[in-house]
Amino acid sequence: MFEIVYQFDPTGRHTPQMPSNAAEARQRLEEGNRAFAIDIDPTTLATPVRRVFRVDADDLNLPTADGQPPLQQPFAAILGCSDARVPTEIVFGQGCNDLFVVRVAGNVLGSECLGSIDYALANLGKTLRLVVVLGHSRCGAVTAAVDSFLDPARYLAFAPSHPLRAIVDRLMVPVRAAQRAIEMSWSFQAIEKPGYRQALIETAVGLNAALTAATIRRELRDQIGPEREVVYGVYDLITRRVGVTIGIPGECQYTSGLVNPPTDLTGFDHLGIAIATSPPVSDLLRN
Ligand SMILES: [Zn+2]
Repeated sequence: MFEIVYQFDPTGRHTPQMPSNAAEARQRLEEGNRAFAIDIDPTTLATPVRRVFRVDADDLNLPTADGQPPLQQPFAAILGCSDARVPTEIVFGQGCNDLFVVRVAGNVLGSECLGSIDYALANLGKTLRLVVVLGHSRCGAVTAAVDSFLDPARYLAFAPSHPLRAIVDRLMVPVRAAQRAIEMSWSFQAIEKPGYRQALIETAVGLNAALTAATIRRELRDQIGPEREVVYGVYDLITRRVGVTIGIPGECQYTSGLVNPPTDLTGFDHLGIAIATSPPVSDLLRN
């Protein structure tokens, strides 16, 4: 049994200090995800565990002593997918008022999403240190885009719906980039493999998160400035860890946590090949 207790002490203050820079903000998120994925894993428990979290008024978003609403002061802005299995604050082990979250299917970067992040950078700049794009494995939106790509007849299903098409269309760039990466790594015969569709999905998920982060960094470079960073990661639905595959052709490696996206087209080519030749994608294409 795993028991989680939230203990509220109205006189105490337990909220840790706000991250003072991008590196600290990234570390806070990575440690929060590690605790979520590993520390709170009921399947690994041999004996009952009781974990007590002490929370204060800030954690619970309670009004201030003079009756004012709490000030909005997130330390990171996160663009993630709407998928119900990827609750942003929980995945990163954060609470109220810690994160400015934008969620949309496929974590695609429409103008409203970009505008929301722009707003956060402009108005919450005192505390905001980091912008994160969070993709996830087996993403339904990316799957829809891959299926439309593999079978153009399926794209017709989206034709009458401009909003749905807007999501699928935005995902076609990473899907095409994933196809190119797989072909460069595995030759044209890869398409014959039973696991090709899933390999395309998982490669496109990683490239989509990286491309989106790079686009935010370019579009909002003035607001981001030298002090803040834009990073990305992919949440694995099985391991519950956030991580990415990085590297150069022939030398890919999986690293947990959040990383900076490539800065040029060569970097994206290398990233695509690294993902396409990573063990999980390789397993799909070898069988
Ligand atoms: Zn998704």
